[in-house]
Amino acid sequence: MERVGVVSRFPEHLSHFAWGYYEVKGVTGVWRDAPPGAIPMVSVFGDNRVAKSHPEWVQVGPEGEAAVRASRYFDWDALCPSHPGVMELALEWVERAQSQARTGRIRLDDVSFAREGFCVCGACRAARDVRGQDLPAYRQDVIAAFVRTVHARAGSLEMTLYPDPLPGHLETRFGIDVDRLAPWIDRWIVPIYDMHYATTYWLEILAQGFRERLTRPFVIELYGLQVPEPELLHAAQVALAYADGVLIAYDNQLEKLLRICERLGSE
Ligand SMILES: [Zn+2]
Repeated sequence: MERVGVVSRFPEHLSHFAWGYYEVKGVTGVWRDAPPGAIPMVSVFGDNRVAKSHPEWVQVGPEGEAAVRASRYFDWDALCPSHPGVMELALEWVERAQSQARTGRIRLDDVSFAREGFCVCGACRAARDVRGQDLPAYRQDVIAAFVRTVHARAGSLEMTLYPDPLPGHLETRFGIDVDRLAPWIDRWIVPIYDMHYATTYWLEILAQGFRERLTRPFVIELYGLQVPEPELLHAAQVALAYADGVLIAYDNQLEKLLRICERLGSE
């Protein structure tokens, strides 16, 4: 398996790396075709554009609050997978990403419920009534069913996890049961972002937590843009002590990326 890769918005940068990701659809809802060889990343249930045109599809919290950017918790709008229209769109996006995956691989972002207590929209409540399930069990079933369906259609599947390895948190907060999903996921990706990486003890704690938690290969994604090169290199070395690979995301300096990749690749 590759050891060092990149996530980039620049198709001309990606051609320099054997392992690279390109966001074909992010949370803004804009689609950009993947350059040759890049692994397409698609934000599945995060989509501000669809949330605007279909506010009735947005996830709803226990106090009735919508999972949108205007609320205190969220950086993007979260669509509810219980709506057939959302599921249809999600599968369409995945299929489109798959059609551009020249390596046969795609990466799923934002396959989750927005946070604990979400979602209690009408569609979720009706579905839970039919199934006779409580909210945690229902959410985990919905996410698992989606990933299983995508796995059956896609060649090779990667999935992004929220960087919380504490026991039970991914399940309780987001409806993601990693043990249940593991048979369908070839590689987990955990973004652990910082603007400086001036200290790394917390990065090490999280990395170690995921190492103990996940049975499949997992990769740590670091934020690169404007992070000083020595600190970024050090953070990558710490990550690689626990993870099976490291990704540098969104850096716009090609020379810096090439130097870091070369250094890490030779260690
Ligand atoms: Zn819902």
